[in-house]
Amino acid sequence: MPRSDIQCDLMVIGAGMAGMASALFAANRGVTTVQVGMPGEIGFASGLLDLMGVHPVKEGRVWNNPWDAIDRLTRDIPEHPYARIGKNDIRQAVEEFTLFLAESGFPYHTYQDRNADVITPIGTIKKTYCVPENMWNGVKALNKRSSCLLIDFSGLKGFSARQIKETLHERWPELRTARVSFPDTSGEIYTEHMARQMEDRKVRQKLAQAVSPHLRGAQVVGLPAILGISRTREVISDFEKQLGVSVFEIPTMPPSVTGLRLRQIFEQQLPKRGVRTLFQQKVLGVRPAGTGEFKFNVGNHDNTLMVGAKGAILASGRFFGKGLHADGKRIRETIFGLPVYQPKDRTLWHCKDFLNPAGHAINLAGLETDDSFRPLDHFGCPAFKTLFAAGSILAHQDWMRMKCGSGLAIATAYIAVNSFLKQVS
Ligand SMILES: Cc1cc2nc3c(=O)[nH]c(=O)nc-3n(C[C@H](O)[C@H](O)[C@H](O)COP(=O)(O)OP(=O)(O)OC[C@H]3O[C@@H](n4cnc5c(N)ncnc54)[C@H](O)[C@@H]3O)c2cc1C
Repeated sequence: MPRSDIQCDLMVIGAGMAGMASALFAANRGVTTVQVGMPGEIGFASGLLDLMGVHPVKEGRVWNNPWDAIDRLTRDIPEHPYARIGKNDIRQAVEEFTLFLAESGFPYHTYQDRNADVITPIGTIKKTYCVPENMWNGVKALNKRSSCLLIDFSGLKGFSARQIKETLHERWPELRTARVSFPDTSGEIYTEHMARQMEDRKVRQKLAQAVSPHLRGAQVVGLPAILGISRTREVISDFEKQLGVSVFEIPTMPPSVTGLRLRQIFEQQLPKRGVRTLFQQKVLGVRPAGTGEFKFNVGNHDNTLMVGAKGAILASGRFFGKGLHADGKRIRETIFGLPVYQPKDRTLWHCKDFLNPAGHAINLAGLETDDSFRPLDHFGCPAFKTLFAAGSILAHQDWMRMKCGSGLAIATAYIAVNSFLKQVS
């Protein structure tokens, strides 16, 4: 057995929402943790933390109260990962996660017992549970139908204030729009560049001067998410002072500034909490090393190293994250070769109508687990004593259609970390 270059208690495989939440919960509990994976995936996040929005998917029933939706889901789909977690644990997981984000300078707001309505970049309304502070004024303004000015920018593709207004016209008649030029730019412009520029006070002043003539009594101004990257609170507060009205952001199409902000927070804050992060690296191979421990071969093109761990959390995602791989015939789990719950043969992966609101059988594929979120082997027993799974790799859930992506990732990470601690203590 090769010697380990690094020895830790827990190896977290994955740097998406489930991997980040696992690493955070482990660090908060004093567990020596190594995390490996590509944080790039999180750059696609809208920043909104969905808990539970739609069930049954086939009927497209949208829920105002995510906790009622979870109750109904638990009755209807007892195999769903949420059905293995008490609501109290889900609540505590979300609270611990959002407390970390608040402590990192990126607070969230929630109504606790109901979903909030957030405007999307195409003007539809999305129900979600936790909303970044920088978008919360938009939730309140939509609720009250306040007099609102929406701004978009010449040269910025994928965000049209006019389209949002037209889509929302009946629900929100007090919405007006204006298109302005972003200071010192011409031609096509990108949100990341704009957000970085907005950290400069002079740029904010110039933008405020461009927006002010359009205010005409508006109580609140909405813009695409461009208000800074690492100093968003400071940027918004200063921009509000200059305009003299409240401001809010609307999420943009991915990859977005909102995702970039989250990624930056995790990359900076997790090491400060003691997590050894091996971002931009992958698990290339694994060997169970007896007594429930693992030896991981971790690396990239340039070098590899050996990490020994008492246990692991597999948060490697589905097809997008590369935790699952579909070849011509079967769906495989890519690191441990664990059995994957899936339709009997390939012809059943998708239904004929690609846009069928009920979704496709392949979207329920993934790992089946016990109540501690340990993946099961072919005999229905935990495949390893100290291997746990979290996030979208879990079977029997279609997070995209159910609108439960981040909630599921955070809650299952919470149980996986607590279960690991119970096993090794
Ligand atoms: C475009 C987009 C928009 C979204 N919008 C929302 C939203 O509005 N609200 C919401 O709640 N959720 C949203 N989500 C969902 C959410 O952000 C998460 O993607 C989802 O919850 C799944 O997270 P995950 O961590 O399980 O998997 P992933 O995000 O897929 O992460 C998997 C991780 O595993 C790593 N990995 C895979 N194989 C290996 C290996 N061999 N070694 C090491 N690491 C490996 C990958 O590098 C990656 O870091 C969105 C997702 C996307 C893609």
